[in-house]
Amino acid sequence: MMEAALWSSCPPTHQLYHDDPYATTATATVLSVSGHFAVFDRSLFYAESGGQVADQGTINGARVVDVQKAGGRPFQLPNGEVATVESVFCHEFAEPCTLTVGESVTMEIDWERRFRNMQMHTLAHFLFHATGEYLEANGQTRSTRGCHISDSSARFDFGCSIPSEAVPVIQERVVALLASSPEAVVTALPDTHDVFVWRSGDIVIPCGGTHVNHPKEIQGTVTVRRRTKGRNGTRLYIELDRDATG
Ligand SMILES: [Zn+2]
Repeated sequence: MMEAALWSSCPPTHQLYHDDPYATTATATVLSVSGHFAVFDRSLFYAESGGQVADQGTINGARVVDVQKAGGRPFQLPNGEVATVESVFCHEFAEPCTLTVGESVTMEIDWERRFRNMQMHTLAHFLFHATGEYLEANGQTRSTRGCHISDSSARFDFGCSIPSEAVPVIQERVVALLASSPEAVVTALPDTHDVFVWRSGDIVIPCGGTHVNHPKEIQGTVTVRRRTKGRNGTRLYIELDRDATG
């Protein structure tokens, strides 16, 4: 279990993947250790948030199985949603942690898993945008209840009814966006260290996740599926078959 004593006296973790989402190794200093958990001054690992699963990898060769955020403060995004900023990242190891406070360590993330997450995260943004366009064209307002992004699929729960005939339209639009969208640009919002805006062409989404730089890095066949989810709700899935030739 992750106890407050592990992280409560630690400063916010510097998130190295914002400096370079393609970096696979980095050094850091141990700030706190307890049981299977450790906190560092900075981290290359993405902590589970915004629906995206955490990175895995190794620190000084020891296997990291999960990374969760603790603490932090609320911050209102331009779109009205509230994000938590300045969190402390708690790294969970497969075995009890043998690191000592003050020690310098080498972090290495599971790059294949991270890159797949970056692809799916970027696809999730195109799905979100394409769905919004469809709903707007049909006189509906987009509302989202949550999302989940892993390395092979992403899903959004929309708080509205989306008919099955919308699915091929949305899928076709996602594929078109992938083919035509320019390189994404990520910029930090003022007054924060970890709130960013992702922009690709006219699509602008506040997001602190990890993304591929260019949609061309997403190769394969994209499929959108739907199912009804609760009262007046629809869950849309987007999947990427990387073995397909596209
Ligand atoms: Zn994002």
